[in-house]
Amino acid sequence: MWRLLILTACLSGLAAAERKSYRSYKLISVQALNETQVKYLQSIHDSENYEVDFFSDPSLIRTTDILVAPWDYGRLNNVLRKAGFNVKVMVEDMQTLIDEEMMEMVASPLNFDYRNNYLTLDQAYLLIDDLASKYSDLITVTTLGYSHQGRPLKQVKISKNTGTSKPAIWIEATTHAREWVSLSVALGIIHNLVNAHGNTEKASLDMLAAFDWYINPVHNPDGYVYTHTTDRLWRKNRQIISGCGSIVGVDLNRNWDVNHGGTGSSASCSSDTFHGGSPFSAPETAALKAAVESTPNVKAFFSFHSYSQLILLPYAYTTATAPNYNVLKLMGDNAANALYEVSKRRFTVGSAAQILYAASGGAYDYFYVRRGIQYSFTYELRPSGIPYFELPAREIAAAIDETWASFVSFAEQIAAV
Ligand SMILES: [Zn+2]
Repeated sequence: MWRLLILTACLSGLAAAERKSYRSYKLISVQALNETQVKYLQSIHDSENYEVDFFSDPSLIRTTDILVAPWDYGRLNNVLRKAGFNVKVMVEDMQTLIDEEMMEMVASPLNFDYRNNYLTLDQAYLLIDDLASKYSDLITVTTLGYSHQGRPLKQVKISKNTGTSKPAIWIEATTHAREWVSLSVALGIIHNLVNAHGNTEKASLDMLAAFDWYINPVHNPDGYVYTHTTDRLWRKNRQIISGCGSIVGVDLNRNWDVNHGGTGSSASCSSDTFHGGSPFSAPETAALKAAVESTPNVKAFFSFHSYSQLILLPYAYTTATAPNYNVLKLMGDNAANALYEVSKRRFTVGSAAQILYAASGGAYDYFYVRRGIQYSFTYELRPSGIPYFELPAREIAAAIDETWASFVSFAEQIAAV
């Protein structure tokens, strides 16, 4: 009863702050069967006639998940059916999922237990600083740059002094603000690397012996804060852009200088895949680029996103096959098998453009293509579909543990080549 009262109080407080409501917003799922249907979905994606949010981009290979406002659902359903689509309603009321997630957070607002709760930005930063003071021989926290609104982009370096120089592995997470579990996994990796014990001990020590680790756990702090205060499903940063009027935000994973402005990105300010005026026009991407490029001997780069249960290989921007595709595929398959051993979840491995859809201007393609980092990967974490970005907090620990197992496998394989 108390919990309900607290929740009600909290929700009404949030309503007062004009939090965006997704009451009666429906999540529909369609499968395009031919190129014409893909193009048709793309035209809806690019149109401003409907209030829609594409959780996944149009694809022949996978279902396209579309959130639609209640006032546009009937009309959209009609045109899709006329165009030959079998429309499945997966979620009747998106707000219900958001409320459930919030109820879990409200139950323990001062809890820093990142394995069982989603943290706010302040909590995550405090946790990182706390780990840095506890393991000061291993962790150095610096600021690699600032977001559009002036928030620090924290860089966590984990390095064990062995008297020899080691290759580096870079990790970035929380690029897309609503993909909360990606931050949880980044915090899990930081924690496991420095607090080696029990069944993670040997792997952690090996990983510290082989590499220096650099982690940017919240690449998009402005967007992340906004998902907590105002709009749970916000994706982009919060940049004010000349020529875009009151519409803000750049998709940070379309703003890198690799086929910038090409397939799978949008020139429209209002699009969730808006690529920004020019490469690195977002301060967040410019800062991360500079940080990675000033790091000596970077051997591998990882981005963490959700959802879909995928391990993505280059390329994302073209369906062409990458030069060392076979090596990357084998590494990815081994990592996916290690993950499966932990949780019996299947992660699909392949090039993003071949198994998902083409997306230009992404971070891991940039480092692979432009900077010659041969081992470059993107995770799409759990779940595979429902409840999409609203992975319940009770599943965070499992997401961390399964991802960690696959990540250990990656580190072992990369150390061996
Ligand atoms: Zn993402």
